[in-house]
Amino acid sequence: MRHRLSPDHYATGVLTGNRLVLSQAITLIESRRPDDQVLAQQVLERILPKTGESIRIGITGVPGVGKSAFIESFGTYLTSLNHTLAVLTIDPTSQRSGGSLLGDKTRMEMLSMNPNAYIRPSPAGDSLGGVTHRTRETMLLCEAAGFDVILVETVGVGQSETVVHGMVDFFLLLMLAGAGDELQGMKRGIMELADALAITKADGDNQASAKRARVEYQNALHLFPPTGNGWFAPVLTCSAITGVGVNDIWQTIREHQEITTQNGYHLRRRQEQQLTWFRSLVRQRLEGQFYNQPNVRSQLAEIEEQVRAGTLLPTPAVEMLLSQSSDSL
Ligand code: GDP
Repeated sequence: MRHRLSPDHYATGVLTGNRLVLSQAITLIESRRPDDQVLAQQVLERILPKTGESIRIGITGVPGVGKSAFIESFGTYLTSLNHTLAVLTIDPTSQRSGGSLLGDKTRMEMLSMNPNAYIRPSPAGDSLGGVTHRTRETMLLCEAAGFDVILVETVGVGQSETVVHGMVDFFLLLMLAGAGDELQGMKRGIMELADALAITKADGDNQASAKRARVEYQNALHLFPPTGNGWFAPVLTCSAITGVGVNDIWQTIREHQEITTQNGYHLRRRQEQQLTWFRSLVRQRLEGQFYNQPNVRSQLAEIEEQVRAGTLLPTPAVEMLLSQSSDSL
């Protein structure tokens, strides 16, 4: 990005809902240039008082479960209720060179033309930690720009579900009827994180199997220990094609918001998330600083080779590497 504005210009543009400036501010956040990063922090500082008011929803599910179709339908429904929404994606597959599960095709065509929706894919070529950090900051910018619903979508592979769960108020897991849990790559842990499950494609011939799956998953969820937040994750069915069930999902999210706001869990969850974010930034920063030291860099390959060969045990190897560090870590 060649042309840069002053922090006040970015902040004012974002706060007045100027899409172009919002996109530029997000690009600034995604930039790795040190001067851009300083500028980005100055912008964030200015908009911070106007953040935190949206409902933050995470959506996950395996490829093909119908995430983009659901978001089209759900997002369009929300805008019909006069909500404005931003859709952000965390795509672990775009971080590797092998291409992207979420980004390859044109997704959410209708929603991308909707004036009350804003879609921003995750930046490619970054580590999951880096993307997570940037998505959180992007979410703040979108909130300051006035979007009152933020959807963070991720494909159900790898660690990204946990990461998304760590930045939203409500975590929705989309599931296919008739496919085994293994087939859906769903670890029990992910189901435990969900605030609701929705069986997708509950239309036409699929309706009966969607209903069966609903009962099965509801029974499975009953076996999980209660989370202590006064909420029991329901299982719903929906169809992005007919739109049936999409409004129930929104009702469920509203209900969850109400209950958890009243019992204080909503605030606690956000406070915990801020703290976790801070801690992971400290970790990333320390790690970066450590590995960037010339002494550490020059010794690392050699030490790792010895560890691989079994001639050096990991514990003394760590001591050896740390003793190379000029900082007294
Ligand atoms: P994603 O990979 O999770 O984003 O899944 P997509 O939204 O791309 O959907 C995968 C396939 O399922 C596409 O061929 C869609 O047309 C189909 N699909 C998605 N939602 C529905 C639905 O509600 N009903 C039916 N019958 N098909 C759907």
